[in-house]
Formats: sequence, C-alpha cells, structure tokens
Amino acid sequence: MVTAALTSGNLQAADYCHKRRPADVRCFYVINPRSPHGDWALREIVRPAFRALRAECGLSAEALPYGEIPTARPDLITYVVYGPTDPLLMTGDEKAYLAALSAAGVRTNVVSAYELTAGGADRPGYERAATVVPDLCDELDVNAIYPDEVDRCRNIRTNTWQDLYTNVIGETIRLKYTPARSLEPGDLAVRHRLGAEHAWEIAELARLHREHRLWQRKPWTDGSIVFTHDGFWYVSQTVTDKTAMSPADFDLVTSYDESRQALTYTGPRLPSSDAPEYLMLSSLLSMHGRRPRLIVHFHHRELTRGHRYRELVTAATVECGRFAAGRQLFAELRERRSDWVIIREHGMVWIGDSTGEFERFCHRVLH
Ligand SMILES: [Zn+2]
Repeated sequence: MVTAALTSGNLQAADYCHKRRPADVRCFYVINPRSPHGDWALREIVRPAFRALRAECGLSAEALPYGEIPTARPDLITYVVYGPTDPLLMTGDEKAYLAALSAAGVRTNVVSAYELTAGGADRPGYERAATVVPDLCDELDVNAIYPDEVDRCRNIRTNTWQDLYTNVIGETIRLKYTPARSLEPGDLAVRHRLGAEHAWEIAELARLHREHRLWQRKPWTDGSIVFTHDGFWYVSQTVTDKTAMSPADFDLVTSYDESRQALTYTGPRLPSSDAPEYLMLSSLLSMHGRRPRLIVHFHHRELTRGHRYRELVTAATVECGRFAAGRQLFAELRERRSDWVIIREHGMVWIGDSTGEFERFCHRVLH
C-alpha cells in the first residue's frame, strides 16, 4: 500500500523489493551557514555518522553547499541531511530550500538545534514542537530527526551522530539484515494459506492503528507486525501502511540466521526492517515459556516520550533491525513480567495472542 507521491523523496514500496546496495545510494550533507553550531555539528554529528556508515555499510557522503540541489538520478536514492537548525524558527528561505530538495526527489532530513534556557531547560514554547514540527515536516515533505540529546556544553537540544547513522540506514538501504527470497511452490502455498487465515486479524489491526493513531511519523514507516507459527512467521513488509494493510502486505518468513544476519522469505516486498528482533523475540519466548501468537510493534506520540508508564521504558536504547535487539527486548519483558514495554525514545512492543487482546490493551493503556 503506497501513499507517497511519485515525485517526492518519501519512501515508496517499489523501492523495497530488493535490498539497496551502497552503489544505489547517494548521500549529501548541507551545513546551515547561519547556525553558530555548524562546525560543531559537522565534527560531532555528521562526520562520525558517515565514518561508521562507511565502515559498516559502505556508504559515504559528500558536502553540498547551502542552496544547491543535487541533479536528479531516478535510478538512485538521493539522501540529504541539513542542519543544524531550529525548526520552530526556520526562515522562509530555509523552508523553501528544503521543500525544493524534496520536490526534486531527495530524501530530506533535518538535524535540529533548539537553544535552551541558561539553566539548561527547554525554552518556553518548546512544547509547541510536538505538533508544529510534524505539521511542518508534512508540509515540506521532510523528516526532522527527533532531538533527544540535551548538550549542556553548547546548551542546545539536538541530535547525536548515532541518531543520524540510524536515520541514514532507515532512509536509504533500510535493512540491516541480508534477505534471501524463496519462490518455492510450497512456500508460496503457505503464504497464500496464511493470507486467508489472518485476513480478518490484519483488517482489525488496521482499524486499531487508525482509531488509536498507532504511529508517530508515518503509518508506512513506523511499526511492524508478526504472527507466529510452528517454525515460521507471517510478517508485515517494509513500507506497509498499517492503517490500510491487507494480506498482500505480509510475507512468509521461513528461517533466519543470527550469525549471518540473514532471513529467508516469500512475498513481493522485503519483510519489515524490524523483523529480525521480533523473530528472535518469538523464538526466545517459545524456548523459555510460551510463544505468543502475535507481536505488535507500534509508535505512539504521547506514550513514547510522555510521563506515563516510565517504569516500562527499556533501560538502554535498542538498536532496531538487529537480531540482538530481540534478546534485549526478551530480557526487558521478562524482568518486568510484562506483556509490553516502551523501547527508549522509540516505540512500543506488545506480545499477546489475539487482536481482541490487543484492542483491550489499546483501550486500557493508550487513553
Ligand atoms: Zn519502530
């Protein structure tokens, strides 16, 4: 289910039939010439992020002068990160530049720097960012990377190089695992059977995503759903609109291999980039007790960073998209004897057996 317009820099489902190679991706960074934090951000955020991306994914980046737009290459994914800037105080000039990048087909991302008070607190009015920034991002067709980092030396709320690293992977090659697609008639038949079996549950989950707004950024970038079975899984695909999904948006996953960071699947698009941790979580749960039938990972604007359920926030941040993250989530759930946790600064994981149970959870917890 694709909602993004063809001309935009947004994710498109057709891009995710195959894992992108570094040669399919161009990355650029633009330092805001008017920011007093520009040199610092280049040194502490941009360079370390691309150093790690080069070492681990083979991705490199070029500097782009402010105001310049890379020439369109329809065969490639073009990524630009711009900043630092305060999205609440962005000038018309900056907005026009960012919108022009996106209109040219560039995936445009923003590193933020919000000045703090002398005491290191968010300035009055910062709370407006919760609604103003998502609206601005929709209007310009860009993504502001969420600024969790409070830098007391520079006295700004900003991003870390790790935020940028994760964002670049998410916007370009997307997956950390190595996929192998199976076209075996037996696997195709199982996927077909599971589609019929789970169709009504998928429709129910779509309704719950709509009714409870279970996403933060976009319903097709956020979240992941796994139905578990004996020895295989039925998993939502990358770029699945969770508010309008159907069995066409789900894959059969028949195996995974943590040591090779690989999985085997059947279906038209790649399984969710978050599939590795939920495959691992389901295996660990079945070895140590009872396997849940259903795992739902979703985002929620208020719960992720709000004041409620702070005791359910994971102790550490979790690097999503890796099998090892499933081990962390398993430990967090077990320690809390809970059927859900909040992944620090990220989103929720819920385990259970039915969509009815998930609906009761939504009513109990989300309001
Ligand atoms: Zn997520």
